[in-house]
Amino acid sequence: MSKSEDCLFCKIIDGRIPSEKVYEDDTTYAFKDINPKAKVHVLIVPKDHYANVAELAAADPAELAHIVGLAQGIADKEFSGAYRLVFNTGLDAGQTVFHVHAHVLTGEKLDE
Ligand code: IMP
Repeated sequence: MSKSEDCLFCKIIDGRIPSEKVYEDDTTYAFKDINPKAKVHVLIVPKDHYANVAELAAADPAELAHIVGLAQGIADKEFSGAYRLVFNTGLDAGQTVFHVHAHVLTGEKLDE
């Protein structure tokens, strides 16, 4: 697994920082966002460290597809199957943690 020593989400994946786990398998970890923007707000991350979704898509498109499938599964379980999937990419888009993460927003009808 590729890790980055100073990365917050690598530390969460390793259990060095606590998180509310929602799902885990060999390649992927999902946990509740500490500052939820919807009734259900889950972050899904690959265990390998990539800075953003473009890097992930280039290096491991199957993992990106896996993350999308997991988001759908969370929305099926928590709501009507509807969800918003957001990858903030770059400082000016509001990315604050540079380990790619999918925001899954669901659990309620979302504002447009
Ligand atoms: P970004 O702004 O797209 O990079 O999203 C980073 C997200 O990580 C934000 O929604 C934060 O609320 C969330 N976050 C930051 N630290 C933690 C933590 O320790 N646990 C869970 N979520 C976190």
